[in-house]
Amino acid sequence: MDFEYWYFVFVPVLFFAGWFCRGLDQRQRDDTTNLPEAYSHGLSLLLNGETDKAIDTFVEVVRIDPDLVDLHHVLGNLFRERGEFERAIRLHRHLYNRADLSKEERTRALKELAQDYIRAGFFDRAEAAFRRLSEMPSEHLYALRSLLEIYVTEHEWAAAIETARLLETQAGESHSAEIAHFYCERIDLALKRKNLEEATLLVGKALEREDATPRVGITAARVALAAGNGKEAVAHWERVAERFPEYLPIFVGPLADAMTAQGDEAGAVTLLRDACEKTRSIDAMEAALSRVRKLGDAGSAEAQKIVTGMLHARPSLLAFNALVQLKHEEDPSDEQTKMLASLLEKHARRLSRYQCRKCGFLASRFNWHCLGCGSWDSFPPRRIEDGKKA
Ligand SMILES: [Zn+2]
Repeated sequence: MDFEYWYFVFVPVLFFAGWFCRGLDQRQRDDTTNLPEAYSHGLSLLLNGETDKAIDTFVEVVRIDPDLVDLHHVLGNLFRERGEFERAIRLHRHLYNRADLSKEERTRALKELAQDYIRAGFFDRAEAAFRRLSEMPSEHLYALRSLLEIYVTEHEWAAAIETARLLETQAGESHSAEIAHFYCERIDLALKRKNLEEATLLVGKALEREDATPRVGITAARVALAAGNGKEAVAHWERVAERFPEYLPIFVGPLADAMTAQGDEAGAVTLLRDACEKTRSIDAMEAALSRVRKLGDAGSAEAQKIVTGMLHARPSLLAFNALVQLKHEEDPSDEQTKMLASLLEKHARRLSRYQCRKCGFLASRFNWHCLGCGSWDSFPPRRIEDGKKA
């Protein structure tokens, strides 16, 4: 009799469970049937620029079918583009850790994860991800190029040199100018720390690539000067002036100073005058004016000659400003000249900037590396107004 009681209780329970499971299965099947519809709905939202709604739709689709790896990637990239780096990282890391995915899919996830880390500013984690990628033959060169970008952003110049060298030997790419700049960056740091021994050692390495950029010779001259070897500094600068004459205006001042220090004042004045005549550059003119003005009456006459020559050869607001400033210095009591000098100085300062020829980034000082686009040697050694007249 006991058995029959159980029978009456057990059968309805089994029936209910079966009904429930059927319903669940049906609901899942309905969801799966709706997948393509939801997917295309998400895409159309995305195309209409309704990113928020598109993400909600895709999240729902991915929840129903976790095997839609492509959609996971679309979603991860959308998170990244919207600055939701934590969600992007979580999603891509989940994909990378899924043992059921193919090696290719996991590699793809790791590449995306590395990009997430870069965008989020986690450079150490990005570096670790790219190092893992560099161990895969198919991704090796891609990873090296990405690592190089990270090292430059992080100012890890020694690692940047090593990576660029690997790219030269393994990919046949030329990174000569970049490597030369990386050495110069290291030299600048050594000079800041007053470590002349290290700076001199690095100059030797940089000089192997001195044809790649004028910066090498200019930096070598600075190191020689810091070491008290003015003659060697002059020799470096003169070699740069020969190979890259357009860069003379940015170092003609210190070169003239070094020549003067060695007793060749007449040679220094001739150099400054020639630099102005040959380059017609505002930088050369300013370097010349600041030095010849110290030479007494003869210097004042020379300064007038230099400015007048500039105005005739290449009339510019900057040259006119220099002339007015000279007049003001001659007669500081003249109120009209004083007003004109003050007004012109303000406008001249606005034009007195350098511009990256690749991205248009403006800088008040001459730079070897553009902060806007990351290019090297992209600033012409001329100020904006100078360049327009060139
Ligand atoms: Zn730029």
